[in-house]
Order: sequence, then structure tokens, then C-alpha cells
Amino acid sequence: MSSIADNLESVTRRIQKATLQAGRKPDSVSLLAVSKTRSAEELREAVAAGQLAFGENYLQEALDKITELRDLTEIEWHFIGPIQSNKTRQIASAFSWVHSVDRLKVARRLSEQRETGLPSLNICLQVNINNEQSKSGCQPDELPELVSEISQLPGLTLRGLMAIPDPEQAESALRESFHKLANTLEKLRQDYPDAGPLDTLSMGMSGDLEMAIAEGATWVRIGTAVFGERPPKS
Ligand SMILES: *Cc1c(COP(=O)(O)O)cnc(C)c1O
Repeated sequence: MSSIADNLESVTRRIQKATLQAGRKPDSVSLLAVSKTRSAEELREAVAAGQLAFGENYLQEALDKITELRDLTEIEWHFIGPIQSNKTRQIASAFSWVHSVDRLKVARRLSEQRETGLPSLNICLQVNINNEQSKSGCQPDELPELVSEISQLPGLTLRGLMAIPDPEQAESALRESFHKLANTLEKLRQDYPDAGPLDTLSMGMSGDLEMAIAEGATWVRIGTAVFGERPPKS
């Protein structure tokens, strides 16, 4: 069985290779270790190996780990799961990034609830890029309004877009999904030059990070390849 440190090393090598092959700058892609269902001890192991950015999907589970690991002050916490609007206060106070904002109400609440002493909260808009009924994320045609409204909100910095394209699609369709998200961000950057840095594409998981990097990913969200297969959620 390989250790988390070994896994991190091989994922980092995959990222470097894909970045190089895409002709992109070596530091233009960051690894977000997706730690849902993983214990605080496993995260400690990852931190000891140099990993500092962690993505969590379930708020209560995340808050428990954040409390347990509060001695590791250099950790950067990212929320990447579906957001219930009555839970925004805790998200606004405990995280540095939220990748899964998909409606104005949630953004408004995060803005109001972000404490003024904290740096502004980095936001990505989650886009339902495959038009799936079941998936969360806004529709692409809702983006212009969301971007123009959210960019006005204090306490938030609009960093870019996130998507979870259906990994079961054919490779060409999956690639097209990543490409579409990248084009959508580029268009928003042109149409809304003052909306925020809009420098972030959160896309790519364990099975498809190379393709996502070839299409412009800046955060790849990697769970299984870092921590091993997830135990079934009980
Ligand atoms: C679980 C999850 C990931 C990581 O998936 P792996 O295939 O385990 O790398 C990435 N993004 C989101 C939103 C997730 O829920």
C-alpha cells in the first residue's frame, strides 16, 4: 500500500508533466487535495508531506476537522460541496475559498457574513456544464447576471468558474466540457474586465487531471489519487 506522501509525489509529477506538455508555466496549476471522508490523521500526514490546500464537501465533517487541526495554521480550507443557504455563516467564517457558489442568494449571504477582519473570501461559480438535471451548478446563461451582481459584493473576490463534468462521458465529450468552461471564463473576462481577477478554473479530478490541465485548469481537485479509494459512505 502506498503512503499519502508517495501518492502526493506521484500526483504532483502527473500535474507537472501535464503542465509542461500543455506549454503552461510550471506554477500555473495547483493541487487541491479533496479530503471528504478522510480522517484528521490522514490530513496531518498530507500536511507533513507538504500539502496545505484541502477541499471539503460536507460542512459538519469539515468543521470537525478544522477544529481538530487548528494547530496547523498554514492549512488553506476550500469548500467544494453543495451549499444550503442556512449554512453560509459557518462557511463564511471557516474557509478561504468556496468553489461551489451557484446562486445569488448564497453569494449575498457569504458577503454579509464574512467577518470584516478576515481577508476576502475567494469565490468560484459552479457551472452545470453538461446541463444535467441532477447536478448542482448554475446554467451558463445565468453567468452574466451572477458575475455582474457578485462582483459588487464586499468581502468576496470573484476568482472564476468550477465544474464537475460527468466523468462517465466519452473522452472527447469530457474534453469538450473542460474546453467549454475555459471559453466561458475567457468570455466573462472580456465582458466584465472589472469583475475580479477571474483567473481560476477549478476542474479536473483523479481520472482526468491531464485533460483538464490541457484545457486550462488552475486548481485540480484530487481525492482518490491522493488518499486512495474512499470507503463507502455509511
Ligand atoms: C470527490 C470530489 C473530487 C475528487 O474526486 P476524485 O475522483 O476522488 O479525485 C473532486 N471534486 C469534487 C467536487 C468532489 O466532490
